Amino acid sequence: MIEERFQLRSARWIAADYLERHLKPGDRAIDATMGNGKDTERLCQLVGDTGRVYAFDVQDQAISSTRCRLTQEGLIGRAVLIRDGHEHMEEYIREPVQAVVFNLGWLPGGDHAVTTKTATTERAVDAALRILCPGGILSVCVYPGHKEGEKELRMLVPKFERLDVRCFAVLYHRFLNASDDAPRLFLIQKIRTNTEL
Ligand code: SAH
Repeated sequence: MIEERFQLRSARWIAADYLERHLKPGDRAIDATMGNGKDTERLCQLVGDTGRVYAFDVQDQAISSTRCRLTQEGLIGRAVLIRDGHEHMEEYIREPVQAVVFNLGWLPGGDHAVTTKTATTERAVDAALRILCPGGILSVCVYPGHKEGEKELRMLVPKFERLDVRCFAVLYHRFLNASDDAPRLFLIQKIRTNTEL
């Protein structure tokens, strides 16, 4: 973890801090990019014994390291680990959720070729916006310092700009004094669905 005093240097810390205040015991959350399971673990702690965390990844390595981490921490009973693309999340989760978390890119310490891809990220983000309950939070951390991350960012900015302001609050976080490669964070809250207007 980063040193306590320098939290604002980490886009992920800002997302985690926000989710910590948002999620309550009994909530449902989705970790759309499980990776080594750090975010899955944090979400499991926040939703408590009565909550559920659905975590997706396309790599066996991610599932096994996350299963190991959660078992060690006594949290495995709160999680459903799904070896499938996040773009299929609606096939697995039928009820609205209070949070969906994306940390795009590749598995830390893993194969850089298995990165999230713009086309599937777009389908997954659209699904996440549908599956959120009113009041629910979507967090998306993007890394434009690599080619696919730059494409993902170019897809996400206009998509999020177009979201109806009556239905979604959209916050875009970027480091103004850092290079264009620095991570970007979107925090989006669903206010209401279109049908409620
Ligand atoms: N949040 C993780 C890091 C995620 S890295 C952590 O805390 O460690 C991004 C992950 O997305 C990688 O593990 C990669 O395998 C996964 N991924 C790539 N394409 C995917 C897809 N279509 N659906 C779900 N996960 C995907």
